[in-house]
Amino acid sequence: MRIDLHSHSSVSDGTEAPGEVIGRAVEANVDILALTDHDTVGGLAEAAARVPRGFTLIPGMELSCAHEGSSVHVLAYLFDAQHPGLAAELRRIREDRLVRAESMVHRLQDAGVDVTWEQVRAIADADGAGPPGGGPEDNVIGRPHIARAIVEAGAAADIQEAFDVWIGSGGPAYVARYALDPVRAVALVRSAGGVCVLAHPARAEGTLTGAVPDTLVDRMVRAGLGGIEADHPSHDESEAAYWRARAEELGVVVTGSSDDHGELTGHRLGCRTTDPEAFDRLIEPATGAEPIRSD
Ligand code: AMP
Ligand code: MN
Ligand code: MN
Ligand code: MN
Repeated sequence: MRIDLHSHSSVSDGTEAPGEVIGRAVEANVDILALTDHDTVGGLAEAAARVPRGFTLIPGMELSCAHEGSSVHVLAYLFDAQHPGLAAELRRIREDRLVRAESMVHRLQDAGVDVTWEQVRAIADADGAGPPGGGPEDNVIGRPHIARAIVEAGAAADIQEAFDVWIGSGGPAYVARYALDPVRAVALVRSAGGVCVLAHPARAEGTLTGAVPDTLVDRMVRAGLGGIEADHPSHDESEAAYWRARAEELGVVVTGSSDDHGELTGHRLGCRTTDPEAFDRLIEPATGAEPIRSD
Protein backbone atom coordinates (compact mmCIF):
# COMPACT_ATOMS: atom_id res chain seq x y z
CA MET A 1 0.00 0.00 0.00
CA ARG A 2 1.62 3.27 -1.16
CA ILE A 3 0.27 6.40 0.53
CA ASP A 4 1.21 9.97 -0.53
CA LEU A 5 -0.44 12.71 1.55
CA HIS A 6 0.76 15.94 -0.13
CA SER A 7 0.19 17.01 -3.75
CA HIS A 8 -0.73 20.10 -5.75
CA SER A 9 -2.76 20.69 -8.91
CA SER A 10 -3.21 23.69 -11.19
CA VAL A 11 -5.99 24.84 -8.87
CA SER A 12 -3.07 26.21 -6.83
CA ASP A 13 0.58 26.16 -7.92
CA GLY A 14 0.90 22.68 -9.43
CA THR A 15 1.07 22.37 -13.20
CA GLU A 16 -1.41 19.52 -13.86
CA ALA A 17 -5.20 19.68 -13.66
CA PRO A 18 -6.69 17.78 -10.67
CA GLY A 19 -7.88 14.86 -12.81
CA GLU A 20 -4.42 14.59 -14.37
CA VAL A 21 -2.85 14.43 -10.89
CA ILE A 22 -4.97 11.36 -10.13
CA GLY A 23 -3.95 9.75 -13.44
CA ARG A 24 -0.29 10.33 -12.67
CA ALA A 25 -0.66 9.02 -9.11
CA VAL A 26 -2.10 5.77 -10.50
CA GLU A 27 0.84 5.54 -12.94
CA ALA A 28 3.23 6.06 -10.00
CA ASN A 29 1.58 3.09 -8.20
CA VAL A 30 0.18 5.28 -5.45
CA ASP A 31 -2.90 3.69 -3.82
CA ILE A 32 -3.96 6.54 -1.54
CA LEU A 33 -3.38 10.19 -2.48
CA ALA A 34 -4.28 13.40 -0.67
CA LEU A 35 -4.80 16.41 -2.93
CA THR A 36 -3.55 19.35 -0.85
CA ASP A 37 -3.75 22.53 -2.89
CA HIS A 38 -2.85 25.75 -1.08
CA ASP A 39 -5.82 27.15 0.87
CA THR A 40 -8.56 25.51 -1.23
CA VAL A 41 -10.46 22.31 -1.94
CA GLY A 42 -11.41 23.72 -5.35
CA GLY A 43 -9.85 20.78 -7.21
CA LEU A 44 -11.60 18.07 -5.23
CA ALA A 45 -14.67 17.49 -7.43
CA GLU A 46 -12.61 17.15 -10.61
CA ALA A 47 -10.12 14.84 -8.89
CA ALA A 48 -12.93 12.73 -7.37
CA ALA A 49 -14.47 12.22 -10.82
CA ARG A 50 -11.22 10.58 -11.96
CA VAL A 51 -10.73 8.15 -9.05
CA PRO A 52 -10.48 4.62 -10.45
CA ARG A 53 -11.48 1.38 -8.73
CA GLY A 54 -9.06 0.44 -5.95
CA PHE A 55 -7.77 3.99 -5.48
CA THR A 56 -8.52 6.30 -2.56
CA LEU A 57 -8.52 10.11 -2.66
CA ILE A 58 -8.18 11.97 0.63
CA PRO A 59 -9.69 15.48 0.57
CA GLY A 60 -7.14 17.94 1.91
CA MET A 61 -5.39 21.28 1.58
CA GLU A 62 -2.17 22.98 2.64
CA LEU A 63 -2.86 26.00 4.81
CA SER A 64 -0.47 28.93 4.46
CA CYS A 65 0.25 29.99 8.03
CA ALA A 66 2.87 32.27 9.54
CA HIS A 67 4.68 32.54 12.84
CA GLU A 68 6.80 35.58 13.68
CA GLY A 69 7.23 36.48 10.03
CA SER A 70 8.20 32.98 8.86
CA SER A 71 5.87 30.90 6.79
CA VAL A 72 4.66 27.63 8.38
CA HIS A 73 2.58 25.20 6.33
CA VAL A 74 -0.13 23.02 7.85
CA LEU A 75 -1.65 20.10 5.96
CA ALA A 76 -5.31 19.51 6.74
CA TYR A 77 -7.35 16.42 5.88
CA LEU A 78 -10.96 15.23 6.03
CA PHE A 79 -12.41 18.49 7.40
CA ASP A 80 -15.84 19.94 6.62
CA ALA A 81 -15.04 22.60 4.01
CA GLN A 82 -18.41 24.25 4.70
CA HIS A 83 -17.58 24.91 8.36
CA PRO A 84 -18.36 28.64 8.63
CA GLY A 85 -15.24 29.70 10.58
CA LEU A 86 -12.90 27.74 8.34
CA ALA A 87 -14.63 28.78 5.10
CA ALA A 88 -14.43 32.44 6.12
CA GLU A 89 -10.68 32.19 6.84
CA LEU A 90 -10.06 30.46 3.50
CA ARG A 91 -11.93 33.20 1.63
CA ARG A 92 -9.91 35.85 3.42
CA ILE A 93 -6.61 34.12 2.64
CA ARG A 94 -7.50 33.70 -1.06
CA GLU A 95 -8.74 37.27 -1.44
CA ASP A 96 -5.58 38.63 0.16
CA ARG A 97 -3.48 36.44 -2.15
CA LEU A 98 -5.04 38.28 -5.11
CA VAL A 99 -4.36 41.74 -3.66
CA ARG A 100 -0.83 40.76 -2.71
CA ALA A 101 -0.02 39.23 -6.10
CA GLU A 102 -1.14 42.42 -7.84
CA SER A 103 1.10 44.49 -5.51
CA MET A 104 4.02 42.22 -6.36
CA VAL A 105 3.35 42.77 -10.07
CA HIS A 106 3.41 46.53 -9.51
CA ARG A 107 6.72 46.29 -7.68
CA LEU A 108 8.17 44.30 -10.56
CA GLN A 109 6.89 46.85 -13.08
CA ASP A 110 8.44 49.67 -11.00
CA ALA A 111 11.74 47.79 -11.18
CA GLY A 112 11.46 47.60 -14.97
CA VAL A 113 10.36 43.97 -15.30
CA ASP A 114 7.96 43.59 -18.21
CA VAL A 115 5.13 41.64 -16.56
CA THR A 116 1.43 42.45 -16.45
CA TRP A 117 -1.32 41.58 -14.00
CA GLU A 118 -3.39 40.11 -16.85
CA GLN A 119 -0.50 37.82 -17.76
CA VAL A 120 -0.03 36.57 -14.18
CA ARG A 121 -3.75 35.95 -13.77
CA ALA A 122 -3.80 34.03 -17.02
CA ILE A 123 -0.87 31.85 -15.88
CA ALA A 124 -2.72 31.11 -12.62
CA ASP A 125 -6.02 30.76 -14.51
CA ALA A 126 -7.32 33.11 -11.81
CA ASP A 127 -9.06 35.34 -14.31
CA GLY A 128 -12.47 34.90 -12.77
CA ALA A 129 -13.57 32.83 -15.77
CA GLY A 130 -11.87 29.49 -15.27
CA PRO A 131 -12.75 26.59 -13.03
CA PRO A 132 -13.58 26.06 -10.24
CA GLY A 133 -16.06 28.87 -10.04
CA GLY A 134 -14.70 32.38 -10.47
CA GLY A 135 -14.21 35.20 -7.99
CA PRO A 136 -12.70 34.37 -4.63
CA GLU A 137 -13.49 30.69 -5.28
CA ASP A 138 -11.25 30.81 -8.34
CA ASN A 139 -7.82 29.19 -8.59
CA VAL A 140 -5.45 30.18 -5.81
CA ILE A 141 -2.72 32.52 -7.00
CA GLY A 142 0.81 32.21 -5.62
CA ARG A 143 4.37 33.29 -6.18
CA PRO A 144 5.18 30.39 -8.54
CA HIS A 145 2.72 31.93 -11.04
CA ILE A 146 4.49 35.30 -10.77
CA ALA A 147 7.83 33.52 -11.13
CA ARG A 148 6.67 32.06 -14.45
CA ALA A 149 5.76 35.55 -15.70
CA ILE A 150 9.18 36.86 -14.65
CA VAL A 151 10.84 34.07 -16.65
CA GLU A 152 8.58 34.83 -19.66
CA ALA A 153 9.69 38.47 -19.40
CA GLY A 154 13.33 37.40 -19.55
CA ALA A 155 14.13 38.89 -16.13
CA ALA A 156 15.24 35.50 -14.74
CA ALA A 157 16.56 32.35 -16.39
CA ASP A 158 14.29 30.01 -14.43
CA ILE A 159 11.79 29.80 -11.56
CA GLN A 160 14.51 29.39 -8.95
CA GLU A 161 16.32 32.51 -10.16
CA ALA A 162 13.03 34.44 -10.16
CA PHE A 163 12.67 33.59 -6.45
CA ASP A 164 16.33 34.25 -5.67
CA VAL A 165 16.48 37.61 -7.45
CA TRP A 166 12.95 39.03 -7.15
CA ILE A 167 10.25 37.38 -5.08
CA GLY A 168 11.89 35.24 -2.40
CA SER A 169 11.15 36.37 1.15
CA GLY A 170 12.85 39.78 1.56
CA GLY A 171 13.42 40.15 -2.20
CA PRO A 172 12.77 43.50 -3.95
CA ALA A 173 9.32 42.51 -5.25
CA TYR A 174 8.29 40.38 -2.25
CA VAL A 175 5.07 41.32 -0.46
CA ALA A 176 3.89 39.48 2.67
CA ARG A 177 0.34 38.14 2.79
CA TYR A 178 -2.35 37.48 5.32
CA ALA A 179 -1.73 34.17 7.04
CA LEU A 180 -3.24 32.27 9.95
CA ASP A 181 -1.39 31.59 13.15
CA PRO A 182 -0.45 27.87 12.95
CA VAL A 183 -1.88 27.02 16.39
CA ARG A 184 -5.17 28.67 15.48
CA ALA A 185 -5.16 26.84 12.14
CA VAL A 186 -4.87 23.46 13.87
CA ALA A 187 -7.67 24.33 16.30
CA LEU A 188 -9.89 25.57 13.47
CA VAL A 189 -9.38 22.45 11.33
CA ARG A 190 -10.04 20.24 14.37
CA SER A 191 -13.27 22.13 15.05
CA ALA A 192 -14.24 21.47 11.41
CA GLY A 193 -13.74 17.73 12.07
CA GLY A 194 -10.39 17.50 10.27
CA VAL A 195 -6.91 16.36 11.22
CA CYS A 196 -3.60 18.22 10.69
CA VAL A 197 0.03 17.49 9.89
CA LEU A 198 2.89 19.97 10.17
CA ALA A 199 4.31 20.18 6.61
CA HIS A 200 8.08 20.04 5.83
CA PRO A 201 9.16 21.58 9.18
CA ALA A 202 12.92 21.52 8.61
CA ARG A 203 12.94 24.94 7.04
CA ALA A 204 10.39 27.67 7.22
CA GLU A 205 9.55 28.03 3.55
CA GLY A 206 10.81 31.12 1.75
CA THR A 207 13.53 31.77 4.30
CA LEU A 208 16.76 29.97 4.96
CA THR A 209 16.54 30.57 8.68
CA GLY A 210 16.12 27.34 10.52
CA ALA A 211 13.30 25.07 11.38
CA VAL A 212 9.85 25.50 12.90
CA PRO A 213 10.61 26.23 16.60
CA ASP A 214 10.07 23.47 19.17
CA THR A 215 7.86 25.63 21.38
CA LEU A 216 5.53 26.30 18.45
CA VAL A 217 5.34 22.59 17.62
CA ASP A 218 4.49 21.85 21.27
CA ARG A 219 1.63 24.36 21.16
CA MET A 220 0.38 22.91 17.88
CA VAL A 221 0.34 19.43 19.42
CA ARG A 222 -1.67 20.74 22.38
CA ALA A 223 -4.14 22.23 19.87
CA GLY A 224 -4.58 18.78 18.29
CA LEU A 225 -1.82 18.35 15.69
CA GLY A 226 -1.89 14.72 14.52
CA GLY A 227 1.38 14.32 12.66
CA ILE A 228 4.67 15.68 11.35
CA GLU A 229 5.81 15.36 7.73
CA ALA A 230 9.34 14.18 8.57
CA ASP A 231 9.87 12.51 5.20
CA HIS A 232 9.81 15.25 2.56
CA PRO A 233 11.99 15.75 -0.53
CA SER A 234 13.43 19.00 0.91
CA HIS A 235 14.65 17.25 4.08
CA ASP A 236 18.08 15.69 4.21
CA GLU A 237 18.54 12.43 6.16
CA SER A 238 19.49 14.15 9.43
CA GLU A 239 16.50 16.51 9.26
CA ALA A 240 14.17 13.59 8.57
CA ALA A 241 15.67 11.65 11.50
CA TYR A 242 15.35 14.67 13.81
CA TRP A 243 11.65 15.13 13.01
CA ARG A 244 10.90 11.41 13.22
CA ALA A 245 12.34 11.42 16.74
CA ARG A 246 10.40 14.59 17.65
CA ALA A 247 7.15 13.03 16.41
CA GLU A 248 7.76 9.95 18.53
CA GLU A 249 8.52 12.08 21.62
CA LEU A 250 5.35 14.10 21.06
CA GLY A 251 3.18 11.05 20.42
CA VAL A 252 2.11 12.12 16.92
CA VAL A 253 2.47 10.16 13.68
CA VAL A 254 5.22 10.51 11.07
CA THR A 255 4.12 11.08 7.50
CA GLY A 256 6.07 10.93 4.26
CA SER A 257 4.86 12.66 1.12
CA SER A 258 6.04 13.94 -2.25
CA ASP A 259 4.72 17.55 -2.24
CA ASP A 260 4.46 17.10 -6.02
CA HIS A 261 3.82 20.30 -8.04
CA GLY A 262 3.97 18.61 -11.46
CA GLU A 263 6.61 20.08 -13.76
CA LEU A 264 7.52 22.73 -11.19
CA THR A 265 9.12 20.17 -8.84
CA GLY A 266 9.67 17.48 -11.46
CA HIS A 267 6.99 14.80 -11.41
CA ARG A 268 7.58 12.96 -8.16
CA LEU A 269 4.28 11.54 -6.85
CA GLY A 270 5.02 8.66 -4.48
CA CYS A 271 8.70 9.58 -4.00
CA ARG A 272 8.02 9.64 -0.23
CA THR A 273 5.24 7.59 1.39
CA THR A 274 3.41 7.20 4.69
CA ASP A 275 3.24 3.95 6.62
CA PRO A 276 -0.31 2.49 6.48
CA GLU A 277 -0.55 2.14 10.27
CA ALA A 278 0.50 5.76 10.75
CA PHE A 279 -2.10 6.79 8.18
CA ASP A 280 -4.88 4.86 9.96
CA ARG A 281 -3.91 6.44 13.27
CA LEU A 282 -3.75 9.92 11.72
CA ILE A 283 -7.23 9.85 10.20
CA GLU A 284 -8.95 7.93 13.00
CA PRO A 285 -10.26 11.11 14.74
CA ALA A 286 -11.47 12.75 11.50
CA THR A 287 -15.21 13.32 11.24
CA GLY A 288 -15.55 16.21 8.76
CA ALA A 289 -15.39 14.32 5.43
CA GLU A 290 -14.94 10.79 4.09
CA PRO A 291 -12.13 9.32 1.96
CA ILE A 292 -13.28 9.10 -1.68
CA ARG A 293 -13.33 5.70 -3.40
CA SER A 294 -15.09 4.63 -6.54
CA ASP A 295 -17.38 1.61 -6.58
P1 AMP B 1 3.16 31.79 -1.80
O1 AMP B 1 2.27 30.83 -1.03
O2 AMP B 1 2.42 32.53 -2.85
O3 AMP B 1 3.96 32.68 -0.90
O4 AMP B 1 4.21 30.89 -2.58
C1 AMP B 1 4.86 29.87 -1.89
C2 AMP B 1 5.11 28.70 -2.84
O5 AMP B 1 6.19 29.05 -3.69
C3 AMP B 1 5.56 27.44 -2.12
O6 AMP B 1 4.47 26.63 -1.78
C4 AMP B 1 6.44 26.77 -3.14
O7 AMP B 1 5.63 26.06 -4.07
C5 AMP B 1 7.06 27.94 -3.89
N1 AMP B 1 8.36 28.40 -3.40
C6 AMP B 1 8.66 29.01 -2.23
N2 AMP B 1 9.96 29.33 -2.15
C7 AMP B 1 10.52 28.92 -3.31
C8 AMP B 1 11.84 28.99 -3.86
N3 AMP B 1 12.85 29.53 -3.19
N4 AMP B 1 12.03 28.46 -5.10
C9 AMP B 1 11.00 27.91 -5.78
N5 AMP B 1 9.75 27.80 -5.33
C10 AMP B 1 9.50 28.31 -4.11
MN1 MN C 1 3.39 25.39 -3.58
MN1 MN D 1 4.51 23.91 1.64
MN1 MN E 1 3.00 21.82 -0.72
